[in-house]
Amino acid sequence: MDNFIVSARKYRPVTFDSVVGQESITSTLKNSIKSNHLAQAFLFTGPRGVGKTTCARIFAKTINCENIDKETLEPCDKCESCISFNQQNSFNIHELDAASNNSVEDIRRLVEQVRVPPQVGEYKVYIIDEVHMLSSAAFNAFLKTLEEPPSYAKFILATTEKHKIIPTILSRCQIYDFNRITVKDTVKYLAYVAKSEGIEAEEEALLTMAQKADGAMRDALSIFDQIVSYTGKTITYQDTIDNLNILDVEYYFKMVDLFLRGDIPSTLNVYNDITSKGFDGLHFINGLASHLRNVLVSKDSTTVALFETSNSIRKQYAEQAKYCSNKFLIYALDLCTKVDIDYKISSDKRLLIELNLMKICKLEKPFEQESVAALPEKKNIEIDKPKTTPAAINEAVNTAAKEEKKPQEKPAENIVQEANSEYTSVEDKSIPKQEETLPIKTESKPKKKGKSRGISLKAGISETVKKEEINLSDALEEKYKTVEKELTDEDLEKAMENYRESISKERPAFAAAIAPKNIGLKPNNEVLITFSNDTMDDIEFKYDLLLFLKKELNNKQISITTKTVEIKSVATKTSKDKYIDMVKVNPELDILRKQLDLDFKA
Ligand SMILES: [Zn+2]
Repeated sequence: MDNFIVSARKYRPVTFDSVVGQESITSTLKNSIKSNHLAQAFLFTGPRGVGKTTCARIFAKTINCENIDKETLEPCDKCESCISFNQQNSFNIHELDAASNNSVEDIRRLVEQVRVPPQVGEYKVYIIDEVHMLSSAAFNAFLKTLEEPPSYAKFILATTEKHKIIPTILSRCQIYDFNRITVKDTVKYLAYVAKSEGIEAEEEALLTMAQKADGAMRDALSIFDQIVSYTGKTITYQDTIDNLNILDVEYYFKMVDLFLRGDIPSTLNVYNDITSKGFDGLHFINGLASHLRNVLVSKDSTTVALFETSNSIRKQYAEQAKYCSNKFLIYALDLCTKVDIDYKISSDKRLLIELNLMKICKLEKPFEQESVAALPEKKNIEIDKPKTTPAAINEAVNTAAKEEKKPQEKPAENIVQEANSEYTSVEDKSIPKQEETLPIKTESKPKKKGKSRGISLKAGISETVKKEEINLSDALEEKYKTVEKELTDEDLEKAMENYRESISKERPAFAAAIAPKNIGLKPNNEVLITFSNDTMDDIEFKYDLLLFLKKELNNKQISITTKTVEIKSVATKTSKDKYIDMVKVNPELDILRKQLDLDFKA
């Protein structure tokens, strides 16, 4: 069996030109060699595994070479000095790992060595790796030598953490900032290594390794070795993700498709599938976030370059990007980052993720699709706890004067929150719920007489006006982007008839409540509904109707105003009486009440 040499060593660059992804640095170093303007001390800084030590070694070898190539300024690799460098037994290079040799003693020993001139070659090069790890006493001991070194001594300090180097050291060094190596460069180099080793590798596999290495070539090469030892001469994408425990990108594509459809059950099933494969929840959420980010940058030709990947994968992303709005992607990303923050402190991590997946499902699903299909359930919720359901409402009371105003002219600031409102606004403002994208402002009848502001109570009839103003969110607005025109009675009548028909089976009571005699059309496309009691004045029903009308009549200016005319004798009915009336219309209500074990307030 051949001696296995790890690729990171075997393919460590030995010339400036073979260093990957640091062209500006290698050409500057070459120029300084050419003009013979060599600084005494250099600071190589940058992330781990990007070639700092490699460049330092090539530099040391080059300045000691006896026959530097005048054209390329690369070492000859043939002279005595080059050979000893290549065999790693040159006396002209000293490497000190400051991570483990950081005491004053270590530095004193180094300083002693510096005093001895080189026996062969021109320069002695001292490479101090992880120089930020030196103790401050060691730094001080080193300072003097760094300030006035002998002409034959060159220092190359390497660090991943430049900010930890004290200014007196920084000011004495020529500083070189190494870049993170791009995925593209890494893939190219891995492909070269694979070819040299006679290994066939799928492009997606190399891409996955490069992404996992995150800009560090050394990591990329050791990942490559790991996969090779697992798969042999052929490397596939599947082998790679299996070996690196990376979730197949197909899962993310599938997930986003389900989000767009608002398919909560399938989303949860796919997530379950992922966890049963042993993937950690946080790992998944971060993967999802970077997927969403990649879809987002794929939307625009000016940002697509930010996504480092192969053309075939880029195509797949561009395809998905077509179906995702920016708004959806940004909100979904926002939810993912929140999970990332909350994950550690959450006591039920799985629930946290599932909840947020459900929230993402709700982002893009149009409201009207759901309200019909899911209405019976919603009704239950309404009866159960209408005051706390987040599908609720910002209840606001307005003065009678403002009631005269058209909804569109009403600034939000003018709406006064009812002081003792039972509705509490519990939702996190930064989470875009459906309710927020469709803000409802309702002026409702004050519950207590003392609170009625400017509302006249006529003898026998108390008349209250409920009014609502619905601002469509940007997304929906776009959907209904139409020319506004004044509605006609006929248009409205026809649309209302269609609507009644569409809900006649599901909500017969509401269909009856919006009979033609109760519907009126006012200026500015305001639809007035007069209810005989307020049990039918349901905010979700109204939403549903409003969305239907806007769509059906192709007019986004439509608003709905409701009015409840109650005969006083009706108003004196107890809640129980009212309830009994309701049960007459819908007997299922009573079954539900029993199931939920609800009673009446006195
Ligand atoms: Zn040489």
